[in-house]
Amino acid sequence: MFIGDFKQIGVYFSIKKYEEEFEQGRICTNICRCHKAAVLLLIMNIILLLIDLTIYRPMINTIKAYLYLCYSHIILIFFMFFWLSIYKVYTNINSYAINEALYYILINVVLYWCVFLSINGLSISGQVFSYIICSLVISTLMYLSPSESLIVYLSSVIVFIIELCIRLNDTKVLMSNIVNAVIVVFFSLLISNMNYINLVKDFINKKNILQNKMELEATNQKLKEYEKLRTDFFANISHELRTPLNVIYSAEQMMGVVLKQNNVNIEKMDKYMNMMKQNSFRLVRLINNLIDITKIDAASFNVLLANYDIVKIVEDITMSVVDYVEEKGLTLTFDTEVEEKVIACDPDIIERIVLNLLSNSIKFTEDKGNIFVNLYVEGDNICVSVRDTGIGISEQMKELIFDRFVQVDKSIKRKREGSGIGLALVKSLAEMHGGSIRVNSDLGKGSEFIVSLPDIMIKENEQDLNACNIINNHVEKINIEFSDIYQ
Ligand code: ADP
Repeated sequence: MFIGDFKQIGVYFSIKKYEEEFEQGRICTNICRCHKAAVLLLIMNIILLLIDLTIYRPMINTIKAYLYLCYSHIILIFFMFFWLSIYKVYTNINSYAINEALYYILINVVLYWCVFLSINGLSISGQVFSYIICSLVISTLMYLSPSESLIVYLSSVIVFIIELCIRLNDTKVLMSNIVNAVIVVFFSLLISNMNYINLVKDFINKKNILQNKMELEATNQKLKEYEKLRTDFFANISHELRTPLNVIYSAEQMMGVVLKQNNVNIEKMDKYMNMMKQNSFRLVRLINNLIDITKIDAASFNVLLANYDIVKIVEDITMSVVDYVEEKGLTLTFDTEVEEKVIACDPDIIERIVLNLLSNSIKFTEDKGNIFVNLYVEGDNICVSVRDTGIGISEQMKELIFDRFVQVDKSIKRKREGSGIGLALVKSLAEMHGGSIRVNSDLGKGSEFIVSLPDIMIKENEQDLNACNIINNHVEKINIEFSDIYQ
């Protein structure tokens, strides 16, 4: 495991900037921990010194080790003062070399202090282990590099053994202490290196996460750019398509006028001219829908809200298509629960919604079928329902038909034309009014589309003035919206 870890670290740190970044982080953590440890040791030693001077005072003169203990606390207190002052001055400079030197000095001093305390306090039970405890604490708390830990622990253990050899005459005791010290150093080195490896692994993981995040952000940015490109393309191509189409449409109208003026038998030409006209309308409708969907996506579709009698708008547009519907062998009935209902809406959009739903009803209802347009109040909403006795929609398709480009019958041989944009657009338009759309349908029996709009009005000064200047060209709108329906 260790060798594998070091290999991984080696590969990663072959990138110089990562090694530097890691080292800076490690030094920062170490110096921070050392600062806290120094404050703690200072307080602890002051308290210990006070205990020495008060509680142990009677023994100080008799037991040499206690006297030694007392002096060692005083030395350490002075050292900590000194260290903390240097720390205060130099941490502002933010030099990593100084910080590294500072924590290195503190570790060594504390460790050597424990070495001497252990040896000189041998006769006092408990003090012997200060070296052991200190080594283990340092190896756990500090992030020492393998070379740093090797220098720190090996040098201290050598000093420890030399001191023991000088002070102890009993070979058995000496040997047992040396064995203890070697075991401690071995474990300290192990813990220290494990700590170091974990820190490196954490660093690598963080770097990887960061790199993945950056890659994701870059991809996201690219996707956004592509999306914008796609939207722009759609907007552009739609406009490009509409311009020549308008020319065809105008030319066809001019042709009609000229043929009439020249007494040409128009009836013969009628069939072809109608074909041209209807297909021009189909393209206009498709392009209009594409443009609107693109605008909605780009949040640039404007709903011009003003207070209007929705009953009148729906009734007018329904009545204007009665003849057309009857020509198709269907009946169209309009009914309303309320005589008048003024709400904030965009009449142009309401007409489009109703015409779209009516166009579908005509398309998907067989000969002699019925279509009903109803208005009623439902709580705080006003509902516009378009119901037919047509082919109906299956349960699993009911959810999907409001998605773009979804058609129940997508086959080339299908009887009805369409692009699958209509209902998605109607849904967006209803939602832009703060409303919604739902469908009830029984396969083979018919469908009912219900657009529910909030029954609210807006203040006079908030009304969109443009909404009041709508030029209502019903014939044109109907021609366009019904262009998918063939004879
Ligand atoms: P299209 O241009 O194909 O009509 P729409 O989004 O308006 O696109 O409708 C999507 C699909 O929902 C239609 O292709 C049709 O399968 C189904 N649908 C819509 N209205 C009705 C209806 N009144 N009766 C039966 N099916 C309908």
